[in-house]
Amino acid sequence: MNQPAPIQKQAIESVADIAGVNPLRDALVDAGLLIPTGVQGLFGRSGEFEHVVEALDALITRLGADQQAEVLRFPPAMSRPDFERSEYLKGFPQLAGTVHSFCGGEHEQQRVLQCLERGEDWTEYQKPTYVVFAPAACYPVYPVMARRGALPEEGRIVDAFSYCFRHEPSLDPTRMQLFRMREYIRFGTPEQIQAFRSEWIERGTRMIEMLELPNSIDLANDPFFGRGGKIVARSQREQNLKFELLIPIESDDRLTACLSFNYHMDHFGLLWGIKASDESVAHTGCVGFGLERLTLGLFRHHGFDIAKWPKTVCDVLWGHA
Ligand code: AMP
Ligand code: ZN
Repeated sequence: MNQPAPIQKQAIESVADIAGVNPLRDALVDAGLLIPTGVQGLFGRSGEFEHVVEALDALITRLGADQQAEVLRFPPAMSRPDFERSEYLKGFPQLAGTVHSFCGGEHEQQRVLQCLERGEDWTEYQKPTYVVFAPAACYPVYPVMARRGALPEEGRIVDAFSYCFRHEPSLDPTRMQLFRMREYIRFGTPEQIQAFRSEWIERGTRMIEMLELPNSIDLANDPFFGRGGKIVARSQREQNLKFELLIPIESDDRLTACLSFNYHMDHFGLLWGIKASDESVAHTGCVGFGLERLTLGLFRHHGFDIAKWPKTVCDVLWGHA
């Protein structure tokens, strides 16, 4: 008889991977700040954790108050056609998350229930929907801007915020599969994007200094897939397209990227047909704030009890309430 494989073998992350030790993750879970789900990088958050996330979000709004940014909010997903056009699968197929749903009839449902009962693979009747997880908060924004026609002379700045999905299961609590990203996205000329990025490297550093967290800025690259991806990553570095603000969180000698400052040149402008005011291809850039990573950085450096954080830090976060 043709025996289907047990369900554990069908899953991408084996059950064995879920067990494992990470001192910071275990301490955060023991303190109740993160609630484990049994899947790596998928956590619930406590009220205290959310209190900090919300304060950081509000701080970023205050820091960007002069930007006249247009606020756009999307659910943590985008349309499959937009996702396909974004070429994310060219650069990062390993990180993408697509939403699948049951598409059978009653007969197929019986099969699914039988498979579940026997511990067999039940996913045969799950088919891709038109919904794909957003890999970054800025991704759903580009097609919207493209549909608006040519940019005004001063360009545009958009304020975006979303849960984002990346399939990178890890024991490291700073590497989640679902996390929140706040972004300012700049559309305009190369000069406007460069100026925006320099300004935000400065503002981002000031923000982290005010939060009294150790930090450094470094050149970076995205994790492009495969052998071809190594070449793309090298070229990204050679052209100084990505910088990150790093904080030691998970260990003293391994730095974690908490903010990123990206210049895409005309990549998204060409892909989406976004036009500058003179009808040339628009350039784009974005600054991204990882809200979970920043929150974890604060807990790691100032302790798990917010009541004992330095008053100066609390004033920055909650002094405006
Ligand atoms: P990136 O688009 O990779 O530059 O990501 C922007 C920001 O999102 C990073 O600087 C991090 O703060 C945050 N981030 C990226 N990946 C993860 C992850 N797996 N878990 C938590 N935060 C992340
Ligand atoms: Zn972005």
